[in-house]
Amino acid sequence: MECRLGCGACCIAPTISSLGKAANLRCQHLDNRNLCTLFGKPERPQVCLDFKAEIEFCGKTNTEAMQNLIYLEKIT
Ligand code: SF4
Ligand code: SF4
Repeated sequence: MECRLGCGACCIAPTISSLGKAANLRCQHLDNRNLCTLFGKPERPQVCLDFKAEIEFCGKTNTEAMQNLIYLEKIT
């Protein structure tokens, strides 16, 4: 699936250790439109490059994505 630009759930819900980001907190690189300010830059972490939009995680709405990713964070 295509990422819903402006969703931002995968930049908020998960822990991202390479950025020192705790779960359920906005990444410091997420702008106020929920877009990544490091997109296309070499500083963008590998974990972010590797994450691809999938219906299983992203669901059909931004709220579903947050719920799915918070749930995954809890069980992993
Ligand atoms: S959770 Fe999915 S739809 Fe939302 S920003 Fe991330 S990849 Fe895109
Ligand atoms: S670096 Fe960019 S893609 Fe990675 S979590 Fe932060 S805002 Fe999202």
